[in-house]
Amino acid sequence: MNLKEIVTTKYGRDIAQCSDKELYFALLDLVKQTAAGQERVEEKKKLYYISAEFLIGKLLSNNLINLGIYEEVRELLAANGKDIAAVEEAEPEPSLGNGGLGRLAACFLDSIATLGLNGDGVGLNYHYGLFKQEFENHLQKEKKNPWIEPQSWLRRTDTCYPVSFGGFQVMSRLYDIDVIGYGNRVNKLRLFDLETVDEGIVGEGIDFNKEEIAKNLTLFLYPDDSDDKGRLLRVYQQYFMVSNAAQLILEEAVAKGCTLHDLFDYAVIQINDTHPSMVIPELIRLLMERGIFIDEAIEIVSKTCAYTNHTILAEALEKWPLAYLERAVPQLVPIIYELHNRIAAKYGDASLYIIDGEKRVHMAHMDIHYGFSVNGVAHLHTEILKNTELHNFYRIYPEKFNNKTNGITFRRWLLSCNRPLTDLIEEKIGDGFKKDAMELEKFGEFACDDAVAERLLAVKMQKKRELKECLKRTQNIDLDENAVFDIQIKRLHEYKRQQMNALYVIRKYFEIKSGRKPVRPITVIFGAKAAPAYTIAKDIIHLILSLSQIIRHDPQVSPYLKVVMVENYNVTLAEKLIPAADIHEQISLASKEASGTSNMKFMLNGAVAIGTMDGANVEIAELVGDDNIYIFGETSDEVIERYRRGDYVSRKYYEENKALKQAVDFIVGDEMMAVGHRESLERLYHELLNKDWFMTFPDWEDYCAKKDKMLSDYEDKKAWAGKMIVNISKAGFFSSDRTIEQYNKDIWKLK
Ligand SMILES: *Cc1c(COP(=O)(O)O)cnc(C)c1O
Repeated sequence: MNLKEIVTTKYGRDIAQCSDKELYFALLDLVKQTAAGQERVEEKKKLYYISAEFLIGKLLSNNLINLGIYEEVRELLAANGKDIAAVEEAEPEPSLGNGGLGRLAACFLDSIATLGLNGDGVGLNYHYGLFKQEFENHLQKEKKNPWIEPQSWLRRTDTCYPVSFGGFQVMSRLYDIDVIGYGNRVNKLRLFDLETVDEGIVGEGIDFNKEEIAKNLTLFLYPDDSDDKGRLLRVYQQYFMVSNAAQLILEEAVAKGCTLHDLFDYAVIQINDTHPSMVIPELIRLLMERGIFIDEAIEIVSKTCAYTNHTILAEALEKWPLAYLERAVPQLVPIIYELHNRIAAKYGDASLYIIDGEKRVHMAHMDIHYGFSVNGVAHLHTEILKNTELHNFYRIYPEKFNNKTNGITFRRWLLSCNRPLTDLIEEKIGDGFKKDAMELEKFGEFACDDAVAERLLAVKMQKKRELKECLKRTQNIDLDENAVFDIQIKRLHEYKRQQMNALYVIRKYFEIKSGRKPVRPITVIFGAKAAPAYTIAKDIIHLILSLSQIIRHDPQVSPYLKVVMVENYNVTLAEKLIPAADIHEQISLASKEASGTSNMKFMLNGAVAIGTMDGANVEIAELVGDDNIYIFGETSDEVIERYRRGDYVSRKYYEENKALKQAVDFIVGDEMMAVGHRESLERLYHELLNKDWFMTFPDWEDYCAKKDKMLSDYEDKKAWAGKMIVNISKAGFFSSDRTIEQYNKDIWKLK
């Protein structure tokens, strides 16, 4: 059926008489039907990408683009007086992820399908997902985020598996979402859920009884883990995810003729960070249940599983107390002991152990010993893993370590979110770049072309106006499109250093007050959620929101400086913010950001970065050259050396730098206290003065100088457009199609 027929059958009306929401539901049917009609060959070997998060974003426009019917549908709607953008707005954003790691998984699924590879994502169907962020009194409040409507992308299947926990058993239910490749095959995102989940147990905010596992298991992504009950719930969730995944994998393999002895010929499992690590002992357990001896079971699983590391932050590397596992999943404990004992017997080195002296299970260690591949997500990150963090593992398994620099899908982050830029590029270099991103190189030939520069600046202005309209309508935020837009959007974390950006804003505030006005208004836009139990991160949000109010109400400053923090930053907002950016902030402490992916999205949309030599920034800088990126700050070697020496004293920088002292003191000054909360501001002030664990102070002066240079360079519009063009033309390397080709060639070996 075509759209007109669907609408007639569904509503007994014409397209012109339907609401945007009705048209969204009708298009949902159209896409699902079209995808179901697509032929799907199941090759022998299949990839299972297991991840706690899939930050997929809205799917309608991407699916229409990938099916090749976007234009057709847009025109049909327009002919009936309907705006496709309004229909797109009627779709709720699935809330199945948190940040970069989840968004990466989503980009990967798009590329896997686009490249025609046989691979599905496996995860959980969280009813409320990650919390929805609201601001009240300049504070973050967490609200539940119901996103599943009676009609949605989810397909309920008949697949159900029993999952046993210590003392009780539950039955799962599988839901599928189609993953539609660009002009190619349809794969699936398999999301497991639990029929007994009870949304009614959630009160105001996001509080619920963490002990009623059968009622709460798939309610939230990353339930608060600041207490034992919360941590235990995470273990239950993780086991539920991997036990279902393991049963699905074995069932599908056996159906294709696998004898289990040859499982690795039928399945390859990518473990996305350590949340799915228990799939290793669970698969071993299931193979043994089916009659395979332990030595062989371990060998089979080790040839099937590969692990991706996403962070070197010690606090993020999961270590579960054995006591939790004994309680939640006692059936895995003897297997984990066995895996540990084999390592302990072979290597005397306790840093390699799976179970440490405090009886905690190091999930990453299990992955590295019992998987066949370990990859980092950017060149620098992988080098740090090999040379420092995981050096002892690298010494015994050099062949397992490899790098896969992250990527993004250009279908979403260019074709879908920035039509006018796509059209301009296509007009200049043809449409080959849509299939082969490296063809963007050709756009570089126009770096000195005045006419193209003018067109590009006009596109940027259009996207800035669209953002202005959107933020006014949805969040009552006022923007001035003639200001320079300086954007930092990412999870709130001290290592990402939003606080350093805020301190720059305070410095500008004082400069303007003293009469040094910028030639053009500056608008600094933040978007970030803080983990509910991460106090200092919430204090930083409070600082930014308070600062925003102070500046807005200061007539001396407000014409020249504006600070905005958008509420509930998510993929939908990212798609509006990124095309509108002039400057983007990638200012993590060197060595701490594994890769970053927003840096790639911004560059593709012609924004210029200010950043440290961290994560994929290093590779971006190499590609675009010094003239087209603004690098500042200490190198990762210097930072690692500082941590090794352990002699960093932030107060010294504070006392020696007057501007810094003035900015930091402002946090607890009268203006701030008049609009903010003393406790929160004082806590942040003391944190910076007494600790500053992520070393904002040593980099700050260099950061401010680079940003000022950037702002003055921005005034040479022709030269700036040249920088934009170089950034766009060098972005091809960061297509997730390239990343996935590398995963497949080196690790998965499908087709
Ligand atoms: C890309 C993306 C991220 C990752 O951003 P980084 O700056 O690389 O941390 C996080 N959230 C959303 C919504 C994204 O689209």
